[in-house]
Amino acid sequence: MNKFIPLSIPNFEGNEKKYVDDALEQGWVSTGGAYISRLEHMLADFLHTDNIAACQSGTSALHLSLIEAGVSPGDTVLVPPLTFIAAVNPVRYQFARPVFIDCDDSFCMDPAKLRSFCEEECEFSDGVLLYEGSPVKAVVIVHVFGNMADMESIMDISGSYNLKVIEDATEALGTYYTEGRYAGKYAGTIGHFGAFSFNGNKIITTGGGGAVTAEARVVDHIRYLSTQAKDDPHYYVHHEVGYNYRMTNLQAALGAAQMEELPEFIRRKQKNFELYAEEFAGFDLAELMPFREGTCSNKWFYSLLLNRDKVTAPMREIITALEQEGVQTRAIWGLINEQKPYIGEITYRLEKAPYYASRILNIPSSTQITAEEIRYVSDKVKQVLGGLADD
Ligand SMILES: *Cc1c(COP(=O)(O)O)cnc(C)c1O
Repeated sequence: MNKFIPLSIPNFEGNEKKYVDDALEQGWVSTGGAYISRLEHMLADFLHTDNIAACQSGTSALHLSLIEAGVSPGDTVLVPPLTFIAAVNPVRYQFARPVFIDCDDSFCMDPAKLRSFCEEECEFSDGVLLYEGSPVKAVVIVHVFGNMADMESIMDISGSYNLKVIEDATEALGTYYTEGRYAGKYAGTIGHFGAFSFNGNKIITTGGGGAVTAEARVVDHIRYLSTQAKDDPHYYVHHEVGYNYRMTNLQAALGAAQMEELPEFIRRKQKNFELYAEEFAGFDLAELMPFREGTCSNKWFYSLLLNRDKVTAPMREIITALEQEGVQTRAIWGLINEQKPYIGEITYRLEKAPYYASRILNIPSSTQITAEEIRYVSDKVKQVLGGLADD
């Protein structure tokens, strides 16, 4: 059989071509044009926030957030080890130092360890948290795979220590709290900054693109910095070092069409998660990881937790065997603190991150996947794991 079920591919079933053609016809292709503010308005409406700036990527959104958070050379930023490396690299762009804090069972930062790091390893004096003499300015919280981090605890802790909270919501557009203090609040709109990504593999895409939310004054300054810090539109007057980080109108045209479909994409992701849950119920070699209670997740990516007491085969072997059956899967990321640029950086009580790093397999989650394909994927996963299981 020549089946191939991809891990995650973009979906252009809506007005994408129409809007991109329109932008081309108008001749507005670069960082000016009506689609950029249209996309910003659509995002603002969807997220119930007034302040959002579209930019070039999730990575630039995170970089701009760190700049606005005042992260400077020599500062410390608390970061997660088990996520995509782009969540941490911008800390280095600012010549600051990352400290890796462990995750909890949601794969997001463990608030208990965040608190004990601040309490036991740092010193709090004159309103500044110091780690080995270096000011701890911010914490980067990633809502991994669309799962909400424990924001109530994280906001309490960051409030006690004057830390800026940068939410990396690049995988969590559409995830919100249904209960508790933040009921109705969306991932990315709870902390001081929220970063979104519209890369090709995310829940909506602009090819490449991103956005930042923050308080109004800050978002205005982010727009200014992202367009080369122009202090005068016609004469070349600049009072700050700027960046070429603004989204283009072509990207925004694609984004406006994708935003129209976002609610449907989320519905499909949620429905497909339920189908996988039925398929894997009672399977003893792997279990489908749930999302946090009290939240409504966009369910962007699905994770199987392998039973390592029974399946000891290396991840590569499992992935290759599934590929031969036409099912594309992938391992969760390698730990960032083990990647070459970060070897030797401080880690704090990493237990769950390495545990999950060797056990999580991501399975196909595109919005186009059919119920029949979900059954096929599930059967093949069960068959391959069954074949590799130790007796
Ligand atoms: C995708 C992603 C980013 C980076 O977004 P880009 O738009 O690709 O720059 C950052 N953090 C996480 C967790 C991501 O998944």
